[in-house]
Amino acid sequence: MHTNKVRVRFAPSPTGGLHLGGVRTVLYNYLFARQHKGVFIVRIEDTDQSRFVPGAEEYIFNCLKWAGLEPDESVVQGGKYGPYRQSERKPLYRKYAEQLVADGHAYYAFDTPEELDKMRADFKTEQNPSPQYDQHIRGRMRNSLTLPPEEVKHLLDSGAPCVIRIKMPADEVVSFTDMIRGEVNFNTSVVDDKVLLKADGMPTYHLAVVADDYLMEITHAFRGEEWLPSAPVHVLLWKYLFGIDKMPQWAHLPLILGPNGKLSKRDGAKYGFPVFAMNWTDPKTNELTEGFKEKGFLPEAFINMLALLGWNDGTGQEIFTKDELIEKFSMERVHSGGAKFDYEKAKWFNHEWIKQSEPAKLRQQVKQVLAAKNIPAADDLLLDKVILLVKERCHLLTDFAEQAAFFFVAPETYDMDAVKPKWNESKQLFFTEIIRNFELAIVWNAPDLEHNFKEIAAANHLKPGEVLLPFRIMLVGGKFGPHVFDIATLLGKQETIRRIKHFLSLLQ
Ligand code: GLU
Repeated sequence: MHTNKVRVRFAPSPTGGLHLGGVRTVLYNYLFARQHKGVFIVRIEDTDQSRFVPGAEEYIFNCLKWAGLEPDESVVQGGKYGPYRQSERKPLYRKYAEQLVADGHAYYAFDTPEELDKMRADFKTEQNPSPQYDQHIRGRMRNSLTLPPEEVKHLLDSGAPCVIRIKMPADEVVSFTDMIRGEVNFNTSVVDDKVLLKADGMPTYHLAVVADDYLMEITHAFRGEEWLPSAPVHVLLWKYLFGIDKMPQWAHLPLILGPNGKLSKRDGAKYGFPVFAMNWTDPKTNELTEGFKEKGFLPEAFINMLALLGWNDGTGQEIFTKDELIEKFSMERVHSGGAKFDYEKAKWFNHEWIKQSEPAKLRQQVKQVLAAKNIPAADDLLLDKVILLVKERCHLLTDFAEQAAFFFVAPETYDMDAVKPKWNESKQLFFTEIIRNFELAIVWNAPDLEHNFKEIAAANHLKPGEVLLPFRIMLVGGKFGPHVFDIATLLGKQETIRRIKHFLSLLQ
């Protein structure tokens, strides 16, 4: 019996990197579960052993951990509905497939791969370029509907390879109500007799998903739109095996679109944006696909952006914390049309989140970014001040490498072209005087430095603009960074003077 408690599941197949569409499915499951004080389950759907990729399962859990979307029940957390890995549930499925055969809703099929190939070749016509094993064809194949019962018994007893296929009804309308799409209807005559149990005894996705959603007491099932065509098979299996009233409520989430149709892993490489949650290295090809994490996204920004890929709360609000999303999310407000992924917009979300984060919250991540560039930033107090000063210039965490590095190490190169052509004697004298003035300075803060700087410029008949840019280049190396006197303040007296002197020596 179903309890009233909401139980939802994300059911990935461990076949590779976790696409942002997958993380969005996780997110919607997670938000829905939290909102309803329910349970969020991750079930590993690894029944297709030919597609199994080592490391992919662990990677998925690492991604969920990074995104802050960890399940309540899974192979990692455990739970009383386990095992949570379908390959470990193998013995559970056969009885359902056999029950379907006994009830006349499924049948044994003994066709060899060669016979299936022959069928596809023999029945191929212009109108039907890829014939399927369906109600028009099943009568001409080697299965328990066409062979005499003794032969079927003999084949089964002798262990001949065989699969179990669903027997799709001839002309029935199957319907269900999707939480996003409303009522959806299918005519069974266009659906093929899908395999439910494979020759190796493993269930296919179709049987396993229905059996496990039942056994795990799933109340709501959210999955990608690409599964919509399989829904009639699943509705029938629910009806035949467990009763339609036990079926979870479904929502088929809209596709995520890239620059050209459905967003693919290849788009990432082509357009230079991440598609996976975290870096993924294909163990077979060693090919690395970049992830949002390593690209420099904050998990808060990543999930905020994903939430809005298909959903909004109707007010125009775009920045949401996870808690706000838990409160406001509703499946009914998810739209059914494809959701366009826009990388510039994704960076905008990240920028907003970086701007509104306290320096201490960003500290560890910025340290890592700097460490990757061999920049030591051991002084937390200084680092926090630097973060505060430059964060609004950073769209990605990795931008801190450029925006914060010069506070910790002097520039290695300088934009000489911006200084040299306009350099002259009076500028040389000005900076010599600045060094003297700074050396005598007792207080060291931005307003005082700026005041002295401008006064000395005026006394030397220089416009501030003429000496501000060279000053910046001396401290930073290039034409970027925050207010130059704020930079000097953080660098401190000794280092500021040292950098001016060093630069002047380069101009000799
Ligand atoms: N294993 C399926 C997948 O990889 C899960 C679909 C579902 O959630 O039912 O997409």
